[in-house]
Amino acid sequence: MSELLKKPWFLGSLVVVFVAIVLWNIPIEKRKYGLSQGSLVTDYPGLLPERVERVVKAENRNDLQRIVKEANRNGQKISVAGLQHSQGGHTYYKDGVVLDMRTFNRILEIDERQKTIRVEAGATWEDVQEAIQPHGFALKVTQSQSIFTIGGSLSVNAHGRDIRFGPMAETVKEMTLLTPSGDMKTITREDPDEWMKYVFGGYGLFGVILDVTLELTENDLYTIHTEQLKSNEYASYFKRLLKQRNTAMHYARVSVAPASFLDEMVVVNYDSTDKQDPNTALKKEQGVKLSKLALDVGRLGGAFENVFWGTQKHYLASLEGNEITRNNVMRSESTFMEYTKPGRVEVLQEFFVPVDAFEAYLHDLRQVIPANDSKDDFKLHNITVRYAAKDDFTTLNYAKEDMLGLVVLIQHGVKEEQVANAESLIRTWTDLTLEHGGTYYLPYYRYQTKDQFRSSYPEWEKFKEEKLRRDPNNIFQNMFYEYYVK
Ligand SMILES: Cc1cc2nc3c(=O)[nH]c(=O)nc-3n(C[C@H](O)[C@H](O)[C@H](O)COP(=O)(O)OP(=O)(O)OC[C@H]3O[C@@H](n4cnc5c(N)ncnc54)[C@H](O)[C@@H]3O)c2cc1C
Repeated sequence: MSELLKKPWFLGSLVVVFVAIVLWNIPIEKRKYGLSQGSLVTDYPGLLPERVERVVKAENRNDLQRIVKEANRNGQKISVAGLQHSQGGHTYYKDGVVLDMRTFNRILEIDERQKTIRVEAGATWEDVQEAIQPHGFALKVTQSQSIFTIGGSLSVNAHGRDIRFGPMAETVKEMTLLTPSGDMKTITREDPDEWMKYVFGGYGLFGVILDVTLELTENDLYTIHTEQLKSNEYASYFKRLLKQRNTAMHYARVSVAPASFLDEMVVVNYDSTDKQDPNTALKKEQGVKLSKLALDVGRLGGAFENVFWGTQKHYLASLEGNEITRNNVMRSESTFMEYTKPGRVEVLQEFFVPVDAFEAYLHDLRQVIPANDSKDDFKLHNITVRYAAKDDFTTLNYAKEDMLGLVVLIQHGVKEEQVANAESLIRTWTDLTLEHGGTYYLPYYRYQTKDQFRSSYPEWEKFKEEKLRRDPNNIFQNMFYEYYVK
């Protein structure tokens, strides 16, 4: 045996077998949350459980209309839920009726000449991609993952990796809205009542989006280009990139590892090849266990986080020169992120700052967030950077000018003092963001104060005024509205 242990091939085989056993035994959990959990409903992190009166599966628009009309008569409150990936009680309300839109998901029409798709709002981006891929089409704007519903995405006016088509709301040509008074209205961009301005980024408070007609583009083929940068070089790099028209999509990662904290970055660009690809299939989730293992190593913090960052740099560099279709860039893996440790949660936050403020902002952020959090309860796991183009379209808009968004993955405990500690750090981070002319994203848990909400969204009063004018009986309600706006 001792002779065998000296042989490199034997040691190599042992390592391979060991890694295989570890990978094989990593559970890929699916968190239980949502509307099916008995009388208490929650959304993704489960931090705000609440009792609702009932959950109605949306299938038929006339039934939905009847529910809204009845609510106007009997004072019932209604909330709208897509896939409930929002994290701050946006999809339910105490003792209310929840419309579960997931079953309202038919593809209604694809118009090849106009390059549009009409689809019911409970469909996911994945449903849409499956329908449009055979026609050679792709979406103009969507999140980097395709797991969300159309209605839920438009109601937060989501953004993703595209850097050319502006806000998601602007890609909608037409929608059918079930208004708070129970009318079904066809609404175009020319609508004199400006419903789109409030419904998109309106968090389900201005009625139910029944279906939308979305503008499409070609399923272009891109070449991946990756580069490692210092974070103080990034803003000027990005401005050059915006001027070079051949990069269609882009994102970046910032190191949260102690050895290179907020200093090193990796950028990933998707450059046009002037070709389209009708043959490559939509990709499925790949390498879930391996990605989860890498993320779990990072979750240990400290030196392990340095190893995780090294692995990420290595992996992203290995993508250089690969080709990928637009549809496939818009359906990144998500299962490996599932996290189910009892007593802890992983949540998202997103902070936006003007492109020119990025360098100074990261510099100041180092004074606020510790580089090494291995011994802390509040742990920062990942920061991805996205571009959010100026949005003149929606009322609660997070991009008052061209912004860079820092999408932040955080973990903390759920005991009262642990949540309070996370709240305090996130409030300090939000103040810093505001000082740099920035704002924060609203679909996540309500760590921010009311004052921070109001400073970030100065149009909130107009939003509330229009809400009360268009929904005088306050039929559409959720916990987000109650906490921040009401
Ligand atoms: C892992 C993860 C990754 C994410 N990545 C991104 C990203 O890349 N970019 C980004 O911008 N965001 C991102 N988000 C945020 C995400 O876009 C939003 O949470 C989005 O709302 C999720 O869609 P959903 O179907 O789960 O909506 P839900 O959470 O179900 O609903 C969100 C809001 O929309 C309303 N709503 C839902 N359907 C309708 C309808 N038919 N009519 C009217 N109102 C409706 C709800 O009332 C609620 O207020 C991410 C979130 C997670 C958890």
